[in-house]
Amino acid sequence: MDGPVLRAQGLVKEFRGFRAVDGVDLDVADGSVHALVGPNGAGKTTLFNLLTGFLKPSAGRIRLGDRDLTGRRPEQVARLGVARSFQITSLFAQLTPCEHLQLALAGGTGLTWRFWRSERALDRFSARAAELLDQVGLAAHGHLPAGTLAYGRKRALELALALALDPRVLLLDEPTAGMGVEDIDRTVDLVQRVREGRTVVLVEHNMSVVSRLADRVTVLQNGRVLAEGPYTEIRDDPRVIAAYLGE
Ligand code: ADP
Repeated sequence: MDGPVLRAQGLVKEFRGFRAVDGVDLDVADGSVHALVGPNGAGKTTLFNLLTGFLKPSAGRIRLGDRDLTGRRPEQVARLGVARSFQITSLFAQLTPCEHLQLALAGGTGLTWRFWRSERALDRFSARAAELLDQVGLAAHGHLPAGTLAYGRKRALELALALALDPRVLLLDEPTAGMGVEDIDRTVDLVQRVREGRTVVLVEHNMSVVSRLADRVTVLQNGRVLAEGPYTEIRDDPRVIAAYLGE
């Protein structure tokens, strides 16, 4: 692990005078898994949306390496190397996982719709799509309509779609939300596998998942950084315990 690959400085997001994110500094070390945690309403989702360009900050700066990401649109942020996992709601029920990935891979090349909608054009991406499906454990499900996949498999497909962009920094928004124990374990294994060669930032409520995955943890409360450090330190910090008890 090196210096910071992703860095936020003095980040503020105001909604009609209310500061959901209130002067956050965040350094995410290259090659690390960095968790954002905190009680409900702490500002995790807002921070996540700022980092991915889905919201524009009211103040502060965001950098990826030596590039300034501040104020850039989500597709520009993704192209520069910060990608978030897709939401299930954006999956197409009729398309197969394989087709989703072929389209994502084709989209990344900037080809026009007219070109990539023809099947032969998409064939160019079938080998890479198969690799990604295999990586997320969906090799046997690549040709079923995505709408028929079980919940955990849909989430795995979202992850594969983000990986199709080959991002330097992968942002995962509650990757285990709504999952049972088996799917949670599978997801932890999966994140361990895909973190190789990249940096992962995740918002996660489940502290067992945080303890297994995160090298560092940033705890937010009322839009501010309450504590930052390795999980074992954070877990025993009286301020963090008090913040969670007050939830
Ligand atoms: P978390 O993800 O940690 O639960 P959020 O980032 O969703 O927290 O929200 C932080 C605070 O900002 C909450 O008080 C929430 O009500 C408020 N908030 C979030 N989005 C908006 C918005 N679009 N307009 C007004 N208030 C918002």
